[in-house]
Amino acid sequence: MRSVQEHQRAVTDLIRPRPPVTATLVDAEGLVLTEDVIAPISLPVFDNSGMDGYAVLATDIPAATSPEHPVTLPVAEDIPAGRTDVPTLAAGTAHRIMTGAPMPAGADAVVPVEATDGGADVVTISAPTAHGRHIRRAGGDVAEGAIVLRAGQVVSASVAGLAAALGLKDLPVRPRPRVLVISTGSELVEPGHPLQPGQIYESNGVMIAAAVRAAGAEVVGTATVPDDTAQFEAVLDRYGVHDGAVDLIITSGGVSAGAYEVVKDVFGRSGDQGVEFVKVAMQPGMPQGFGRVGAAAIITLPGNPVSALVSFEVFLRPALRRAMDLPAPDRPRREAVLSEKITSPPGKRQFRRGLLDHHTGTVTNYGPPASHHLRYLASANCLLDVAEDVTEVPAGTRVQVWDLTD
Ligand code: AMP
Ligand code: MG
Repeated sequence: MRSVQEHQRAVTDLIRPRPPVTATLVDAEGLVLTEDVIAPISLPVFDNSGMDGYAVLATDIPAATSPEHPVTLPVAEDIPAGRTDVPTLAAGTAHRIMTGAPMPAGADAVVPVEATDGGADVVTISAPTAHGRHIRRAGGDVAEGAIVLRAGQVVSASVAGLAAALGLKDLPVRPRPRVLVISTGSELVEPGHPLQPGQIYESNGVMIAAAVRAAGAEVVGTATVPDDTAQFEAVLDRYGVHDGAVDLIITSGGVSAGAYEVVKDVFGRSGDQGVEFVKVAMQPGMPQGFGRVGAAAIITLPGNPVSALVSFEVFLRPALRRAMDLPAPDRPRREAVLSEKITSPPGKRQFRRGLLDHHTGTVTNYGPPASHHLRYLASANCLLDVAEDVTEVPAGTRVQVWDLTD
């Protein structure tokens, strides 16, 4: 059996980053920049008013000291935001100006409307101003030519906003891996259809697809196939696996030791098609497979829902996030005090579902170890990580947990 770490390494090596692309700002959101971004223009683009008010020459109104001692100026122009033909301000006059409108040449300050009577033809100003007041200077935020974003930064809401403010339509980013999710099993029925005796609802497909998207990758398809090699192959064709349309195939089921193991049957029990089936010293999730189908990587997860999702957490989520250059590929590991004793099989790293209390720093095992108990996984907020050689963990022990809430 191989260790969890060895298999993690194999999966990480298998899922290679895609070459950078130029993505629209909408598509780039959540992805990582592959190049520094240099400002093509300055921000603000031009000197503009920081307030709704009146553009003036500060030396025209020193006598305006209070409502009792105002100064009155004729209003020569009205400058709303967006006006492009802004005339020069003549000394002894004011221009009514709105926030973001270009400052007229000849003016050197803005008096906020609150310090005036708001007049449209003549304005009475009841407070003085100083040279440069309430003017947002060109380049005061960003100087043209400056590096404003760095390679490795995630395109967040504010990054997208800055790029747009600079007039950029797209950004160079590491694209999402394109993932095809295939569930296998002749017993599986899509939710929404009645169950016949012996049938169960298919649950891994929607679950793994959701986990893929939550990890940041793209789901190009989810398919369910019975234990039939021809139908499995047909799905690979339908989604263009052999035409380079898929970067990663994730299957679930069909890799155990029984008969009717369709994934093993397709890829050869000996692994002669580039897929290797291995046993990993972990519980749940022992049977694993990995390899290549044409240009696509393939990871074959066990069918039990808990095994499938825990395997995804342990192997695929970090590998996908690394392939996207995301800054925190791993779930945060925390130490917590175990509230009740648990046992663990010898020679296997065990991942139990847990309830972590972030405030008290304690963790409680949640549900039995068997891998069909999906209910507990659905409400767990952490995985308890029990080392291979440990068979019993007494209450009060400090244990390592993977925090699933971050
Ligand atoms: P397998 O690995 O194919 O032997 O499946 C192991 C167990 O997981 C069996 O009880 C299957 O019925 C169940 N199982 C496999 N695939 C799915 C799935 N997509 N949804 C729900 N249960 C599944
Ligand atoms: Mg099966």
